[in-house]
Amino acid sequence: MQSSQNGRFVALSVVVDGMLVCTGCHVSKPTSEYSRNRCRKTGFQPRCKACVKAWIAKRYAPGSVAKEARLRRRRDSQNLRYRTDPNFRNARIDRAKADVATLRDAAFQAYGGFVCACCGETERAFLQLDHIANDGCKHRKEYKVGGPGLYRWLKRAGYPPILQVLCANCNFGKRMNGGVCPHAAAQYGIEIQEV
Ligand SMILES: [Zn+2]
Ligand SMILES: [Zn+2]
Ligand SMILES: [Zn+2]
Repeated sequence: MQSSQNGRFVALSVVVDGMLVCTGCHVSKPTSEYSRNRCRKTGFQPRCKACVKAWIAKRYAPGSVAKEARLRRRRDSQNLRYRTDPNFRNARIDRAKADVATLRDAAFQAYGGFVCACCGETERAFLQLDHIANDGCKHRKEYKVGGPGLYRWLKRAGYPPILQVLCANCNFGKRMNGGVCPHAAAQYGIEIQEV
């Protein structure tokens, strides 16, 4: 039942003619506007879907106190588990490794795939990402990246054309030969820099 006082409905938590008054917004709405809840006498949640949605949105909004607290609790419990549960720790480490492998793959694909730009070597174990302009040290310092950090930074930066895929031989040859692999200096079409 619903009773009307001064034109406002008062929630009585009873379904009448398929209508139920929301305890949140106090609007009478069809039961299709409520999620089912078998524990309730009415068979539905006391608050309508829109109210529940709004509540969740507020609770999960970035920077909300509840969200920060929840994240902190989660972080604390996961840190504890990481220290005390070897299975959890190993799973975490495996996942991190897989993530790095995925990032590495994506980076190589973005720079021409797993093939040396100089000699065509395709053995993955030999291939490296090489800074075309030989400014790797500067670059690493500038962005505080190296290894996984570099892959992540490259992804965020949209894989700028500063790298190429080289095999270890060509990379080494390039370094020892003033910036150009002895294989074929002309193929690069890049500036030669003193190292
Ligand atoms: Zn409502
Ligand atoms: Zn090569
Ligand atoms: Zn080469």
